[in-house]
Amino acid sequence: MMAQYHALKAQASDCLLFYRMGDFFELFHEDATIAAQCLDIALTARGDGIPMCGVPIHAADAYLARLIRAGHRVAVAEQVETPEQAKKRGGSKALVERRIIRLVTAGTLTEEALLDSRAANWLVALAEQGQQIGLAAADISTGRFELASVARAALDAELARLGPSEIVVAEGATLAGVEQPRGDFAAAAGERRLKARFGVASLDGFGQFDAAALAAAGGLLAYLERTAQGAATFLQPPLPRTAEDHMAIDAATRDSLELTRTQTGERKGSLLDAVDRTVTGAGARLLAADLAAPLNAADRIEARLALVGWLAAEGGAREGLRGALRALPDIGRALGRLVAGRGSPRDLGQLRDGLGAARLVHDRLAALADPPPLLATLLPALRGHGALVEELRRALVPTPPIEAAQGGFIADGFDPALDDLRALSQDGRRAIAALEARYREQTGIAALKIRHNGVLGYHVEVAARHADALMAADSGFTHRQTLAGVVRFNAPDLHEAALKVAQAGAHALVAEQAHLEALTQAALDRRDAICATADALARLDVAAGLAERAVEGGWCRPTLLPFPCFEIEGGRHPVVEAAVARAGERFVANDCLLTEESRLWLVTGPNMGGKSTFLRQNALIAVLAQAGSFVPAATARLGLVDRLFSRVGASDNLARGRSTFMVEMIETAAILAQATPRSFVILDEVGRGTSTYDGLAIAWAVVEAVHETNRCRCLFATHYHELTRLAGRLDALSLHHVRATEWKGDLVLLHEVAQGAADRSYGLAVARLAGLPRPVLARAKEVLARLEKGRDRTGGLAAGLDELPLFAALAERETAARPDPLRAALAEIDADALSPRDALDALYRLKTLA
Ligand code: ADP
Repeated sequence: MMAQYHALKAQASDCLLFYRMGDFFELFHEDATIAAQCLDIALTARGDGIPMCGVPIHAADAYLARLIRAGHRVAVAEQVETPEQAKKRGGSKALVERRIIRLVTAGTLTEEALLDSRAANWLVALAEQGQQIGLAAADISTGRFELASVARAALDAELARLGPSEIVVAEGATLAGVEQPRGDFAAAAGERRLKARFGVASLDGFGQFDAAALAAAGGLLAYLERTAQGAATFLQPPLPRTAEDHMAIDAATRDSLELTRTQTGERKGSLLDAVDRTVTGAGARLLAADLAAPLNAADRIEARLALVGWLAAEGGAREGLRGALRALPDIGRALGRLVAGRGSPRDLGQLRDGLGAARLVHDRLAALADPPPLLATLLPALRGHGALVEELRRALVPTPPIEAAQGGFIADGFDPALDDLRALSQDGRRAIAALEARYREQTGIAALKIRHNGVLGYHVEVAARHADALMAADSGFTHRQTLAGVVRFNAPDLHEAALKVAQAGAHALVAEQAHLEALTQAALDRRDAICATADALARLDVAAGLAERAVEGGWCRPTLLPFPCFEIEGGRHPVVEAAVARAGERFVANDCLLTEESRLWLVTGPNMGGKSTFLRQNALIAVLAQAGSFVPAATARLGLVDRLFSRVGASDNLARGRSTFMVEMIETAAILAQATPRSFVILDEVGRGTSTYDGLAIAWAVVEAVHETNRCRCLFATHYHELTRLAGRLDALSLHHVRATEWKGDLVLLHEVAQGAADRSYGLAVARLAGLPRPVLARAKEVLARLEKGRDRTGGLAAGLDELPLFAALAERETAARPDPLRAALAEIDADALSPRDALDALYRLKTLA
């Protein structure tokens, strides 16, 4: 047995091996040590000292989930024959044959119990082709499959968007991930695999994919084949994804804005959590994807907004729709399990109920007047399953079981032959009951019983003191077993009756299994249409949820304009607003008016005054608007944002490890390199992570660069009062502050954003608010008075700043002095001497310089 074990283990050396023995999965050697510790179960040893532990089959899913969550991978080795078959094959000592039937990894789960119903579960494969990275992403629980090719620099942003559960890369790759054979990640092999998988001669119908994307697809498909070990996996045709379709949001910005997770990794407290009013798992997953990738095309955004607006206005329709959706099973994932060959009668029941309900939703919505265009395109996807639903309704019992093995899921009246078998087994059982009465009469033992168990089958049981009568040779009963207190017998006619019951039962089971297969096949034949229905229902759920949220919070429909403005009246921060409300206080709404003439706001004011909140709420409004949601404001008009950046000064960000000031500078560098006039940037206390002089100098230069070079919309919060001098030099910069006053000696933060610079810093007042001891405050006051006197004499921190030459002049000098590397590289290329292959390489190289 251990030889068989080691042979299996060698096939999956990077996994823990679950080795099936009877009603348990056993683990041995180091696997046992790891699992026992991770699962908190007893570690024992075999007779020969090999460490082992085991988990019972019926609870295996829960244990699997814990191992996967702890970052392990598990290979499941099942018995593929019965002990009887083994004996027939190899004699009485033969070992039952076992095979690894699947690898369970974080990215390839389909079990309901192991998945979060409200989150997608992405498996990502990455392939490197020079500076281009192919990215294939699949969620096999719903079949979603995306293919993209991104510049190396943009990879982190894409991965942050997806939040994959598992990443695979080629052996020796520079990227992090589980390594797989290099050969899998070749473009030609990938193309071949894709074509074979979807049975097409050309991929053109799906879109255009470059070599990197095809290579990644190859790696992904090969990995799926390996983990499924011959079983099917669920993939819809690949969707080409291009970065241009979406607002670019890099990993640091996502983190800082807490779009779908907070910085500590929880859903609670994120924008998603504050917005989500969806009532289905599929809706929640789609909303998360929408917020993670806001759109960049006005017409698509308007289409979503129109649907949300319509549902917000039609309260009755919205209520009805949400009520219907709430009762809906997750048909996408039910289909996923059926495709993977792990479907159950209950999954078919879910399709029956879900697709039936979809039809009702269709009829209800189709009856309403003036549907918005997006609704009109969604409606047809909700119907067309009539024949399948009808078949499932006739075939299945109302609540089919998860287990198929016991039968009992096919409804009476569906199959006359099955009904006959059931009647036969029913008759048999009745006959057995009648036998019991007859035996009692015959033996005069009133307490005689006919019982059934797995070992003896049907038998007669009497108390030991009555056994003698039946033991008599002429009684007709044959002794089978004596236990403490009871004795068991075979009886005349009982055997025949029992046989009839057993045979009818077995035949009925076979008939039910055949129906299960046929019904599953009927569902799989319609898988594309079912996916389309699931997608349409999810889109409706998202729109109705956003409408609900808008009505609940008094949110408005944003107006999209074809030029880079950002005009918000009465804007609010959905997360902070909820927190403030929980504390029994009122959130103060604030305007933000960025126009082409005034596109950079410098926001000053005391700590805790509401600067960060103001900055973030505006970034979140941009995200919500482009995701197709109403926004927390009285009115909102904005031009599309191509890239969104959010940076927070170092000291707020200690959680992250690396030298925080270094991180702050790396991230600031990325903004200055990437922000365009269509971008939106919030910078919160940049420069705070270093000494005062350094910090002010850096903040000053960054504001100038953003204003002069990037020319993007920008909100810049700072406690460097000296920066307000920039207002005189930069014409599109204006000054704002969060208001505060002192009342009876106490600081009152008004959280109100007003024109102009803050008149003073209130640092000491904040310190008092925070409860700094009186003597320390008094001392600080003295020190401050000295410092201020010194400043008045010398001009202080800002002395000499007014004589600085203009940034624009400097920038021009710099650019003139530095040759443009892109032009230089272009000039070097001899176009006539290039092979097509070289030309492609050259193009990639040039792109990295651009
Ligand atoms: P700053 O960045 O100026 O230090 P924050 O934006 O972090 O200040 O705000 C500090 C706290 O003030 C928040 O946690 C919140 O409780 C409260 N606050 C901020 N903005 C508002 C507002 N507009 N209305 C009400 N309370 C607010």
